[in-house]
Amino acid sequence: TVKNQIHSYYAFYNEELKSRIIHNKEMEDRMETALAHHEFCAYFQPKYDTETKELAGAEALVRWNTGDGRIIPPTDFIPVFEENGLIVGLDEFMFREVCRQQREWIDQGRRAVPVSVNLSRYNIFYSSFINKYQDILREYEISPKLVPLEITESVMSEDEVLLRNIIDELHSIGFSVLMDDFGTGYSSMTMLGSMPIDVLKLDKSFVDDIGDSKGEKIIRSIIDLSRGLGIRLTAEGVETEEQYEFLRKMKCDEIQGYYFAKPMPGSDFQALLNTEK
Ligand code: C2E
Ligand code: MG
Ligand code: MG
Ligand code: MG
Repeated sequence: TVKNQIHSYYAFYNEELKSRIIHNKEMEDRMETALAHHEFCAYFQPKYDTETKELAGAEALVRWNTGDGRIIPPTDFIPVFEENGLIVGLDEFMFREVCRQQREWIDQGRRAVPVSVNLSRYNIFYSSFINKYQDILREYEISPKLVPLEITESVMSEDEVLLRNIIDELHSIGFSVLMDDFGTGYSSMTMLGSMPIDVLKLDKSFVDDIGDSKGEKIIRSIIDLSRGLGIRLTAEGVETEEQYEFLRKMKCDEIQGYYFAKPMPGSDFQALLNTEK
């Protein structure tokens, strides 16, 4: 069964992990205090339908509000949390936070849109995350359809068979699975055909190449390929009108980027959700 596979993989993975762990007790304490003091919060970056420019959903992105007025971006602490394993707890906190927030918005009668959360490589292969996430969905009575999971492309090369089984299991529960940062990892184009993902997120580095004829050819072929495979496409890091227009012509499904909106606090995102049903 997939559980046994996960278990044995994790036993191996755990050993490897342990040997790499920085026994940073101080950081652990700091994180626990931060969780207890509600210093972490979710920001929401809207995603838009490329054709209609309608709000199509959001991505939840963690922010660390240290209490002295500073907001630390995830790139400053996530690598450390990945080193010492704290990332598992942080991802779970974010998943719970999004479910809680979705429940609140639904209860207010607002339009429900999917809000994706990021799942670190440590969580994906950590045997109990699926059960834990299901418990959280039940607790808040939230459909898994409203909380798609973003998995970064670089994990695709780790254990393909196991990962495919995990994605199958996530699908059987009702989750959608997005491949994040596509183009930055090592996964080959052929893996797209065998990995049952629902959405491919085209990395910002590709979007940055719009305007360059070679870059545009590459994007065009990725869009053609994903369309041929029945995978939806979201472009991330769209910053200019020119990039938007190109992606619209290419019929990229959704876009996310500063051109439309930056990540924002829940209270601001809530205002974008129509209160009429
Ligand atoms: P990501 O998942 O690829 O998220 C997109 C990042 O691109 C976000 O950075 C977002 O603010 C940024 N971005 C979006 N549009 C634009 C744009 O037009 N221009 C530019 N320059 N940047 C744009 P952020 O919030 O700093 O997050 C960085 C990374 O940290 C994320 O990349 C993700 O890998 C990780 N991360 C964030 N939250 C979580 C979390 O809760 N769990 C885990 N495991 N990772 C997270
Ligand atoms: Mg992401
Ligand atoms: Mg991304
Ligand atoms: Mg990215």
